[in-house]
Amino acid sequence: MANINDNFLKLQDNYLFSTIAKKVNEFKNNNPDKKIIKMGIGDVTLPIPKVITDAMQKAAQELEDINTFKGYPPEYGYSFLKEKIIENDYKKRNINIDESEIFISDGAKSDTGNILDIFKCGNTVAITNPVYPVYMDTNIMMGNKIVYIPMSKENNFIPQIPKEKVDIIYLCFPNNPTGVSLGKRELQKWIDYAIENNSIIIYDAAYEAFITEEDIVHSIYEIDGAKKVAIEFKSFSKTAGFTGIRCGYTVVPKEVIGFTKTNEKVNLNKLWARRQSTKFNGVSYITQIGAEAVYSDEGKIQTKKNVNFYMENAKIIKNELKKLGFGITGGVNAPYIWLKTPDGLTSWEFFEYLLNEKQIVGTPRKRIWNRGRRIF
Ligand code: PLP
Repeated sequence: MANINDNFLKLQDNYLFSTIAKKVNEFKNNNPDKKIIKMGIGDVTLPIPKVITDAMQKAAQELEDINTFKGYPPEYGYSFLKEKIIENDYKKRNINIDESEIFISDGAKSDTGNILDIFKCGNTVAITNPVYPVYMDTNIMMGNKIVYIPMSKENNFIPQIPKEKVDIIYLCFPNNPTGVSLGKRELQKWIDYAIENNSIIIYDAAYEAFITEEDIVHSIYEIDGAKKVAIEFKSFSKTAGFTGIRCGYTVVPKEVIGFTKTNEKVNLNKLWARRQSTKFNGVSYITQIGAEAVYSDEGKIQTKKNVNFYMENAKIIKNELKKLGFGITGGVNAPYIWLKTPDGLTSWEFFEYLLNEKQIVGTPRKRIWNRGRRIF
């Protein structure tokens, strides 16, 4: 008899974005002539910059030739890409990251979920709320205890350190969905807490390229002590239009330590390397060549242009919503705008209103349940 992981039965809804896609498809089928403006899942709308597709085409041609053909890629990524990442994303900011601490991935979604493989089931995990649903659902699947850290008008959308001890903390800044970013002083509090409590911070920096303000960090390792406790996730999806191509990277510094049942220290870089070499076979050569081209002079210009386009859209939406009197956050260091629904409407009712009456797709708040009771 094949026993299942019962934790899956605790997942109340479909994955949030699948539910949204289903509702949008239903609407489309019933209203084939109506044009829909999609602002739900954060997909890109601009094509991949030409300098990147040119590089990928050249890479594809190399695969036709016996002299330049490539088979399995290195499971942790090609050095040519890791070198560019180190130079542009870390050295430039005086952060010292070694090649062996970088793991090229097929995106931040998979790795922020998969990272739980190296932790025991049953850890206590802090997740900010509202939340990018992957953090919550993957922890439910693992049977972990979740502590929700509110981000709301009441605390100016600044998450507060939990009173209880937590083992793992998910931080995503610039934040999806609120668009809020945290300053150095606030992030330092989380790093200090993690060092003091032997906790690990899962830091999702998927929107780092959208930062416009000077004092907002592009990497958690800009914060003192972060290399001891933080694992960082980055993505080429939004920066370079790679949502379909799939590429990102995960940084697990050698100093980051977890504990065995008997309190022995274990290097998490080693565990993640072991996990990846067993369960992952690397990212295709063509994709990594494309990611490398993101760091070329022309790649930087073209990707910046795309990022600016999304930020200009965010600015327009933000200003118009403000004029209409909506309470909003975001749109400064992230392409997302989070708004307070009009009085008397839940976020799902407002979602339905926007879709059915205005043909605009937004993202309602993920419903959070505890023992059959809805808590958010
Ligand atoms: N992390 C956050 C916070 C996101 O919002 C998204 C996508 O919307 C991802 C990760 C997914 O990134 P990727 O496309 O690299 O898997």
